[in-house]
Amino acid sequence: MESAENLAAPPARWWAAEQDCSVRCGLCPRACRIPAGKAGYCGVRINRDGRLFSLAYGHPVSIAVDPIEKKPLNRFLPGTKVLSLGTFGCNLGCVFCQNYTLSRQCYPPSRQWPFVPPEEILRLTKRENCPSLAFTYNEPTVFAEYAIDIARLARNEGVKTVLVSNGMISPGPADEFFPLIDAANIDMKGFSEAFYEEMCGGSLAVVLDSLLKLKKLGVHLEITTLVIPGKNDADEMTNNWLDWVGENLGRETVLHFSAYFPAWRCRIPATPAETLYRIRNLCRSRGFDNIYLGNI
Ligand code: SF4
Repeated sequence: MESAENLAAPPARWWAAEQDCSVRCGLCPRACRIPAGKAGYCGVRINRDGRLFSLAYGHPVSIAVDPIEKKPLNRFLPGTKVLSLGTFGCNLGCVFCQNYTLSRQCYPPSRQWPFVPPEEILRLTKRENCPSLAFTYNEPTVFAEYAIDIARLARNEGVKTVLVSNGMISPGPADEFFPLIDAANIDMKGFSEAFYEEMCGGSLAVVLDSLLKLKKLGVHLEITTLVIPGKNDADEMTNNWLDWVGENLGRETVLHFSAYFPAWRCRIPATPAETLYRIRNLCRSRGFDNIYLGNI
């Protein structure tokens, strides 16, 4: 992974020193062992002389005002705008990534990146008359220190916070981050460990733990599945997923199913609209009425 020595990166949290100047990152279940001078899998947490730093802290690469429905959140502050921000980097390696220009990018070592303090994010949110701000575009877990500092300010100033995440975060950081969140859209990429292992390099069990934690905290929760033909569109998998949601989150849970398009390293043809209609019919036949289809 590329380093970015000229960026004024602040120290990261959730890591431990290991032998030979290496560090072990504890932010997400990947638990990267990072040698000196290298970055972790996400590309934004770097070992400098035996200490871990976050290149993403204070360095959003995308800030925009979006409709809240674009997150997607259909039942949280409907009709409002949300100040949205993201950085580079992701802790999953989905072969079908629809957003690889951000997720697989690193901060170029040759470029000075403007520093945007948390206070400035709040100022922009208010200037744009947004009742909420969102950690989105790339995976917010990888910039958790920054997001937590922004979310604390937002809480103090009456601005709502939105998390759009893959749910792959370790329990300690999640226990600090999630209570500062008002609404979340979490990806459930495919309801089997085999799918997560083959297609994402992640763990379904971790994502389910995150969903349970958010539900217990009373966070407004919506869940998105990108439907990939032949990989996660079988009725059996959908039925198993609905069984789990019904038992653990409730049948009133808002579920989104979106069409996939060939991207990054996946050349499977795009999801036909009929597949999404079939899934929606199945959900409705099981008593799940809050179903939204995307990308069609
Ligand atoms: S947050 Fe990044 S560096 Fe840390 S364990 Fe996860 S992928 Fe590795």
